[in-house]
Amino acid sequence: MRAALTQAYAGATANDGGPIDMPFGCVVVDDAGKIVSAAHSLEVTNRCPLHHAEMLAIEIACTAVGRVDLSGYTLYTTHESCAMCANGALHASLTRIVYGSARADLPEHFRPKQNALDWLVRTSSQQPEVIGGVMREECIALLVAHFENAKAELARVCSLPPALSKEEHELLLPDR
Ligand SMILES: [Zn+2]
Repeated sequence: MRAALTQAYAGATANDGGPIDMPFGCVVVDDAGKIVSAAHSLEVTNRCPLHHAEMLAIEIACTAVGRVDLSGYTLYTTHESCAMCANGALHASLTRIVYGSARADLPEHFRPKQNALDWLVRTSSQQPEVIGGVMREECIALLVAHFENAKAELARVCSLPPALSKEEHELLLPDR
């Protein structure tokens, strides 16, 4: 999740004065703990609504491993996936989806009405393990700074090395 947050920080501080993407970051990790892809949201920058962090990270991972089946891989994303990305993760057969902040952590006007990730996983033949709330405080701090459009606070949050949470310690293998 630290690597996903690093991606989110990169997205949040890119394009100073230019278009601002949501500060979401994502990595795909193999079962040995190796990062095979990393991305942050480029939806606004690329003027493409498909270019969410997860969609980009899944595409890069599939290219890197040379197949569309990411069984055995874990997707770490700083924010609970939207319907499109959750469906993408299911189509990619990812074994595990780990996220930081959740839909409920978003400002009300920006919050999707339904929890798409839970619903899709419940109704799909794919049954990835879903773990939420990992490094949630760090992910929320980034969202708050983004929504308040507080550039100084955004720079401060992004300059902090994300601490390893208790939950992440439990998730990580010794060599990760
Ligand atoms: Zn998405």
